[in-house]
Amino acid sequence: MHRNPCRQVIAKADVKTASSTEIGAEVEDEPPSQQACCPAALQPSVKSKSNRKLVIQSLPLDTPTPRRRFKQCYYPNITERQWSDWQWQIANRVRTLEQLERFLHLTPQEKMAAECLQTKLPLGITPYYLSLLVGHAADYPLRRTVVPVIDEFVKMDGEDDDPLGEENQSPVPGLVHRYPDRVLFLTLDFCSTYCRYCTRSRVVGHGRLFFNRRRLENALEYIRRTPTIRDVLLSGGDPLTLSDARLDWLLTQLRQIKHVEIIRIGTKIPAVLPQRVTPQLVRMLRRHHPLWMSLHFTHPDECTPEAYRACQRLADAGIPLGSQTVLLRDINDSVETMRSLMHHLLQMRVRPYYLYQCDPISGSAHFRTPVQKGVDIIRGLRGFTSGYAIPTYVIDAPGGGGKIPITPDYCQGRDGDKVVLKNYEDKLFQYPDTL
Ligand code: SF4
Repeated sequence: MHRNPCRQVIAKADVKTASSTEIGAEVEDEPPSQQACCPAALQPSVKSKSNRKLVIQSLPLDTPTPRRRFKQCYYPNITERQWSDWQWQIANRVRTLEQLERFLHLTPQEKMAAECLQTKLPLGITPYYLSLLVGHAADYPLRRTVVPVIDEFVKMDGEDDDPLGEENQSPVPGLVHRYPDRVLFLTLDFCSTYCRYCTRSRVVGHGRLFFNRRRLENALEYIRRTPTIRDVLLSGGDPLTLSDARLDWLLTQLRQIKHVEIIRIGTKIPAVLPQRVTPQLVRMLRRHHPLWMSLHFTHPDECTPEAYRACQRLADAGIPLGSQTVLLRDINDSVETMRSLMHHLLQMRVRPYYLYQCDPISGSAHFRTPVQKGVDIIRGLRGFTSGYAIPTYVIDAPGGGGKIPITPDYCQGRDGDKVVLKNYEDKLFQYPDTL
């Protein structure tokens, strides 16, 4: 176990990535003046383990009431139009301890961590996502996913900055070629909101991986001359923080490569910045089919009316949507929370795809659960809810072994020419299997 010394107050490593040359809208301004707020009005009516049911048909067309209250309190001079503008949201992300303290009463652990980030994954939270946290205590699941705590600085045995060995499987910068027929294409290292458990925190938010034509051309050239690649996953950072024009250019380049059959985009945008999913964006995306998306959702409280609307737009554009969720201790590690999340996702037309065991990145022990917890959650879902609501639980093997599915043991062995099976109620059955 190692400890990283805290040297300097406030990490601003991501400020560079926020330059207007990268994403068009990013500015260095502080959020608008914070006026005396009415905390009582922001107290959420439902606390952390919410199982709120949302009715899609009654989605409001404008900002829902809790968000409107938050906006009135903290951004009173901002119009509805600005609030709904994804570029305004990015330009006004909370990035420093001082900014964060205007919204949250920080614990000593949170405060110390925010002071010490320096070379670590920076702080970054959109006003929209912040509006989901305000009024909640430090143990509120969404708050824990984006507000750093001092535990991040504790490195345990077995943890690594690059636990999946991506650097060793990178033939050109920003491209990971692990499996024979597909590649992971890191488009940029910028995200609108930084997840404290990010597997790629060694890269993400440090302002070193730009949407740079020369780098991208090298990666494209590698794909062009490798005909076995039929599937390209765009990730990062978050590819949907690119402008429509830049994303369009990249998708067009990939589409011109004959052996690239499908393109996938991995993104957390619908959860942290649903305003980004504009009609213009989906119009552009639908020109590049077959295009798939893997959406990163962590907790049912992220499934707001805004997130529903974003997914609805993507699904209506004919983009098949799958979900990726990281299993996180005291955040979503119960059958009840996971079932609620999966049910919301299905209503949002997002098919639960992967449930990841949290990767052993440096300083992640406070997020990780025993593997048995994941097995128990899958066992608690299978048979008790729709098969469509059950993701595949996987461990991404440390060192670059790829995803390995972990399932409860339903097959109990053989009894002569029969296979002995256990069902979801622990009842035994035999299936004739004459060899
Ligand atoms: S959105 Fe994805 S890439 Fe960005 S910080 Fe979160 S986990 Fe990492």
